[in-house]
Amino acid sequence: MAHPYPQAGHSGHLARHDGMESGHRSDPYREPGKVEEPSVCPDCGASVHAGRWTWQPAQPGAASHRCPACRRTQDGMPAGELTLEGPFLTAHEEEILRLLDHPESRIRREHPLERRMAMRNEADQERMVLSFTGTHVTHGVAAALLSAFAGEMQAAWPEGGAPLQIRWSR
Ligand SMILES: [Zn+2]
Repeated sequence: MAHPYPQAGHSGHLARHDGMESGHRSDPYREPGKVEEPSVCPDCGASVHAGRWTWQPAQPGAASHRCPACRRTQDGMPAGELTLEGPFLTAHEEEILRLLDHPESRIRREHPLERRMAMRNEADQERMVLSFTGTHVTHGVAAALLSAFAGEMQAAWPEGGAPLQIRWSR
């Protein structure tokens, strides 16, 4: 399934981020090899197995260690933001949100650190901003949105570790 937007001027960045485990450019919330095992997140219950955060049950005696996704959520520091706007959004908000639940929960099941963090309305409900704990889920939800409803999409990687910004309008 090909979408025009991932090739639109950001192919280098996007190609790097297709590799889930290797592609997190200096993400301060991911600490490869630093989390002791066994560990379990006190907030979401994710646990570390073989060096990765998983949804497997925690091993007995696991240390309590907040996972990167819950730390981002607690700090209010998303890895990606998806901004939706336009008259179509205003008219179909519930339908759009229902559709976006599917890719979000599918990606979260496979990748425990990739989740939706929050959702807020701006500009008197005419704009909606979804924030995510990972760039993979931000892209996945954006791609599903574009696939289902078409519209215009732009992606930008701000410098200095600021969140990935994807904007969709219709
Ligand atoms: Zn957690």
